Amino acid sequence: MQTTLKSKVAFDGTGLHTGAPVTVVLHPASANTGIVFRRVDLADKPELLAKWDRVIVSPLNTRLTNEDGVTVSTIEHLMAALSGCGVHNVIVDIDGPEVPILDGSAATFVRGIVNVGLTRLSAQLRAIEILKDVSVSDGPAFAQLSPSTSLQIDFAIDFADAAIGKQHKTLNMANGTFVRELCDSRTFCRSADVDAMRANGLALGGTMENAVVVDGATVLTPGGLRHADEAVRHKMLDALGDLYTAGAPILGRYTGTRSGHALTNRLLHALFSDSSACRWVNCDAKIAARLPGVGVSVADLHAVA
Ligand SMILES: [Zn+2]
Repeated sequence: MQTTLKSKVAFDGTGLHTGAPVTVVLHPASANTGIVFRRVDLADKPELLAKWDRVIVSPLNTRLTNEDGVTVSTIEHLMAALSGCGVHNVIVDIDGPEVPILDGSAATFVRGIVNVGLTRLSAQLRAIEILKDVSVSDGPAFAQLSPSTSLQIDFAIDFADAAIGKQHKTLNMANGTFVRELCDSRTFCRSADVDAMRANGLALGGTMENAVVVDGATVLTPGGLRHADEAVRHKMLDALGDLYTAGAPILGRYTGTRSGHALTNRLLHALFSDSSACRWVNCDAKIAARLPGVGVSVADLHAVA
């Protein structure tokens, strides 16, 4: 069955790119609402459905827009937490244009969601079953969805900075894997990129507390890495969040090579432009048992930073 939160939960923080303080409140929502953001700082509180065809492509983050040009940026870590914890319906009240970056990972969102818990709604959950390979590429970057009985994410990155270098990881997202393996991995960037972003008025809220900053072979962030392969884990976290803009859990294998927000969104456009590439299926007990949020418990949370 579909789920929502048992009660509301709030998060205070700062926007990574705007540097402005912002509060997000997740509210329980009725069946078939999906993930809806609501800009409560604006007149009439405009709503933005978190869906692939409302995404503005950007290499830096995933941004939603509506027909009036209202936007909400950097939704991907919250979307990953919702997907990974199995939340299907929620209203996300936000009093600014950008979701708070918090510690650069999804751990704080996961902690809040797991602490309030979920409730089942009286409506059948549907999933998107991938029926054939669909892929997109951009130079050396590649992303693909292919048939699989559960959501698997396979990701490879190759960075010039030796502190990151080549990393490759594959995980099956069923049964709380996201919470145990991915949710505490932080955004990372190169110190030279931080300087360039600042020069363009971006990353104004960026600090050593909300991103892993590397320079060549050196990790500049105090305390170092949470995982030796934290960078690829974070890319998998981003992919899970971006894939959740499909509008439902995906039953399929995502393969990303040097992929990012823009390419994953192009992949969803390609998927839904081919009517033979996927189909909607009602989740019976067998399918539901393989979804990312099933089996998430407070015990998983103790492993989170
Ligand atoms: Zn990210």
